[in-house]
Amino acid sequence: PALAERLRAAIRTIPDYPKPGILFRDITTLLSNGPAFQDAVNAIAGRFADERIDSVAGIEARGFVLGGAVAHAMGVGFVPIRKSGKLPHRTISREYALEYGTDRLEVHIDALPDNARVLVIDDLIATGGTALAGVELVEELGGHVVAAAFVIDLPDLGGAARLAARDVHVEILLS
Ligand code: IMP
Repeated sequence: PALAERLRAAIRTIPDYPKPGILFRDITTLLSNGPAFQDAVNAIAGRFADERIDSVAGIEARGFVLGGAVAHAMGVGFVPIRKSGKLPHRTISREYALEYGTDRLEVHIDALPDNARVLVIDDLIATGGTALAGVELVEELGGHVVAAAFVIDLPDLGGAARLAARDVHVEILLS
């Protein structure tokens, strides 16, 4: 089967998690499947191989697993975008809305080289709030976001549109 079909088959859907009525897309089954994990990483790394990427920025926590592997495959550095209070050096931060309440992402102020061309990575984009916060942190550091890449997009939630003019790359769409 084609790549998207292989990835789709490797993802598990858990009904009513974390709350009744929510269909949770569980990528732990993709990560634990060697060929599927390699497919997902190679697809993203291959798509951006000719884009002169300097750094891959991954969003905690599943964006670390995917982003770390993509950075390694591309031979570039990895930058963690973390939940608040986890990074030891000076940071900048962005608050973003959750369904109930807010959360905060942070990045080290010196995480990127000058004029860095950056690929931002997370496992999944839903409303886009998390990814937008990550993208804006990279931009505040002076980085150029070449694209934000995800394995899964839930297009009904409008996330890709929320990233506005940035290029968004997704492997599979799920409704
Ligand atoms: P957003 O901010 O609404 O786009 O939500 C995306 C963030 O929430 C990402 O960091 C995802 O890892 C996480 N997330 C939201 N829904 C799911 C899901 O169904 N499965 C896995 N992660 C999810």
